[in-house]
Amino acid sequence: MEVHDYGFRTGHLCVDTDPALCVPCQERLDRQLALLPRVYGELEVVLVAAQDPGDRLSGTDRPGIPLNGPAVEARAAIRDTLTSWADLMVEGRTVRLPLRTVPALAAFLRRHLGWLAVHPAADDAANDIDTVLQRALAVARPHEALAPLAPLAVPVGP
Ligand SMILES: [Zn+2]
Repeated sequence: MEVHDYGFRTGHLCVDTDPALCVPCQERLDRQLALLPRVYGELEVVLVAAQDPGDRLSGTDRPGIPLNGPAVEARAAIRDTLTSWADLMVEGRTVRLPLRTVPALAAFLRRHLGWLAVHPAADDAANDIDTVLQRALAVARPHEALAPLAPLAVPVGP
């Protein structure tokens, strides 16, 4: 997966032409919405692993460190972000709100992506979802995220 230090739509023609998301942006958002429930599930695995006193994952032996804090926050961020955009899509329309679960919310947003893409807040939605996914991936798959930087590095210093 690419690294994005820039806005969701940087380098796209759609930025200057139209507030709506272009087709590549929509496709990307759709892929991200498909990925979010999976990452949400992976974060739960991270939580369970963090509560395991054996801690086979990190190899560190520091009981009392709240390893699960970032995973809890990342999960809450996914839920809140999907909920708020689903709420926006329901406003003023005759669609019913989905269940307040991450898979249901993500599926709902994918189903209504065409409408979201032309909403004046489409750009904000795309950026929000992009941000929340990148943060969640950094927590759920830290080795993947760090791999390009330091494939075999042993942490040095404090
Ligand atoms: Zn675009």
